Amino acid sequence: MAPHLVQPGWRFWRQAACTLGASVQHRTWAGVSRIPRLGSPWGATATSPRVYRSGFSTSPRAPEVMLTRERYPVRRLPFSVVSGEDLAAFERIVPGRVITDPEVLEASNVDWLRTVRGSSVLLLRPRTTEEVSHILRHCHERNLAVNPQGGNTGMVGGSVPVFDEIILSTALMNQVISFHDMSGTLVCQAGCVLEDLSRHVEERGFVMPLDLGAKGSCHIGGNVATNAGGLRFLRYGSLHGTVLGLEVVLADGTVLNCLSTLRKDNTGYDLKQLFIGSEGTLGVITAVSILCPPKPRAVSVAFLSCPGFSEVLQTFSTCKGLLGEILSAYEFMDAECMWLVTHHLRLASPVQDPSRFIPDQHTGRRYHVAESVCASEPVDPESPFYVLIETSGSRAGHDAEKLNDFLEQVLSSGLVTDGTVATDHMKVKGMGTCTST
Ligand SMILES: Cc1cc2nc3c(=O)[nH]c(=O)nc-3n(C[C@H](O)[C@H](O)[C@H](O)COP(=O)(O)OP(=O)(O)OC[C@H]3O[C@@H](n4cnc5c(N)ncnc54)[C@H](O)[C@@H]3O)c2cc1C
Repeated sequence: MAPHLVQPGWRFWRQAACTLGASVQHRTWAGVSRIPRLGSPWGATATSPRVYRSGFSTSPRAPEVMLTRERYPVRRLPFSVVSGEDLAAFERIVPGRVITDPEVLEASNVDWLRTVRGSSVLLLRPRTTEEVSHILRHCHERNLAVNPQGGNTGMVGGSVPVFDEIILSTALMNQVISFHDMSGTLVCQAGCVLEDLSRHVEERGFVMPLDLGAKGSCHIGGNVATNAGGLRFLRYGSLHGTVLGLEVVLADGTVLNCLSTLRKDNTGYDLKQLFIGSEGTLGVITAVSILCPPKPRAVSVAFLSCPGFSEVLQTFSTCKGLLGEILSAYEFMDAECMWLVTHHLRLASPVQDPSRFIPDQHTGRRYHVAESVCASEPVDPESPFYVLIETSGSRAGHDAEKLNDFLEQVLSSGLVTDGTVATDHMKVKGMGTCTST
């Protein structure tokens, strides 16, 4: 008998959560410092106020987030409510990992952008696929709704319940199962943190095919569930190509084992593709097999300013033509974004310091902070856009030569007005932080 793929109510709830708007009405104020940090994309600690990686800290008092069910016209479907017998059953399946403490649950009920909030009373932390299977089988039999949760770094509120769905966290499913150092195939549990996986494969001469700003907290299962793109998309393509296999537990507890490690697998249906980007609507991803490319020997980053958006596009065409196979990332941001990251995250702009500038709310023009906000001189009209270009290759000299030719061309043609280049690992990382945040 074919497994029952979709539990209709489950899908409705997930879709509702994913399509909700982003603004928050501030009703009351509560201390953020008492909220345990289970899944901040910035990796803040349990007791401190939000301390971001850059060292920037927000006010210790943050607005409480309005309940999603009060904010939006969503309707709870006729799912059962968690009972004492359910708790006892879960305690038998995942002993000591049945969380009902409201303080711990608070962090898991709210997305990190603090835009949506559910009211789940139960968080389960399985360690194995078998445990996930038993949990889902029980939920299926009892008609209990479930919300899978990875690092809770998602941008659209899909990681938290809309109503009182049981939160199924993959946080303890964090084991690397195998790594093949000839093919670069990594097989791991879905709750592995992306940055930990990056470190694991880099020590063996490979890189993860995806990299994104939330890497310190997001889980590989969450990345697959959201079909995350990230900074290396241009070079290594989408997860539809780099994910070789998945193990998934369906809503009724059936374990679907498509955990292939074979790259050229042309046998039959490619079921795993359905789960890439499915946002938890079709099942819980429990393990991932992913192809890791060899670590490039030489990486350079150029951070450039462009006088207009058409120059951003022309610079892209030029660098595709001149850098060819060594081009690994191309990202752009406008001056407003640059102002936001320098002002709020205290990051230094690689090419200038726009934190000295503030935008006028009415005209949109920019002014030196040092001057009066009424000053009429717009700031740096030559650099309304910035681009980050990353090259990765196997021979530093060859790559530097190509990059220099490219820079000469874009500077002399006026496509680029200013810029800086880094080859040192730390500087390369620092420049990337501006765009990835
Ligand atoms: C600073 C920052 C930078 C980012 N940059 C990028 C970027 O460059 N490109 C990009 O594409 N995205 C980017 N993102 C978004 C990113 O894709 C997600 O944050 C990440 O992939 C979600 O992983 P997670 O483990 O936190 O999942 P969560 O946020 O916990 O969950 C996300 C969704 O996946 C589901 N889910 C989670 N785990 C599973 C599982 N094991 N099985 C089934 N469903 C599951 C959840 O139910 C939810 O619907 C960024 C986010 C941040 C905060």
